[in-house]
Amino acid sequence: MKHLVNVCWMYHDIMDLYGDKGNIMVLKKRCLDRNIEFHLDTCGIGEQKDLSQYDLIFLGGGADKEQISLIPDLLSRKENIKKAMDEHTFVLLICGGYQLFGQYYIAADGSKIEGLKFYDYYTDTGKEGKRCIGNIILEADLDGLKTKIIGFENHGGQTENVKSPLGKVLKGYGNSFDAGYEGFYDGKILGTYLHGPLLPKNPQVADFVITKAIQKRNPDFSFNDLQPLEDLFEEKARKALLDRFQIK
Ligand code: GLN
Repeated sequence: MKHLVNVCWMYHDIMDLYGDKGNIMVLKKRCLDRNIEFHLDTCGIGEQKDLSQYDLIFLGGGADKEQISLIPDLLSRKENIKKAMDEHTFVLLICGGYQLFGQYYIAADGSKIEGLKFYDYYTDTGKEGKRCIGNIILEADLDGLKTKIIGFENHGGQTENVKSPLGKVLKGYGNSFDAGYEGFYDGKILGTYLHGPLLPKNPQVADFVITKAIQKRNPDFSFNDLQPLEDLFEEKARKALLDRFQIK
């Protein structure tokens, strides 16, 4: 059976910090290498789209200015995004996108950006303009798949009240300066501060996201049903970073 992954990249033209578009490139390549059909659609401000039709919604990171400009459009899609999530569309959110699924984000200039309020977490801004910047490594458990997730973070936002974090921080900051934990994962959305972009350095996370997307149409599909790929360069890059930070 030929599988299909139908992706909607929201606000692709403005929410694309630190190479977030690389996440889409990796998803596409890892699908095509396995003969999985890959459809990519984009959704900009004002465009009519039924987001519940997609297997995966992707929203990248952005500066405060971009977050402010898209928020009226995002809030107008709240019911449709809820429908998509209820109907098992998986949602991958990076940094600025992650913040907007919570209660609110207080931007660096003090203005309050209301979130979609799907979750209890909320984001305040770093005091005196301080930002969490640098390489970051987490230990995560994705539905039983134990993996180290490697990336780069650069956010002023300090996200608090995260009930179900993505992983434990081994190196770097995470949801806030002293959080000890990073991101959010609840089976429906994976939100993270990790850029880099996230997926090239984390092929297991890429395959996990592909699995979640396929499960929308095929609930019995599992991670182990994906044909293994040779991740030579990915493994070399991971080893270099883990060695640099002396993480086993
Ligand atoms: N503007 C947000 C912040 O600084 C998000 C930044 C980002 O997406 N990297 O916290």
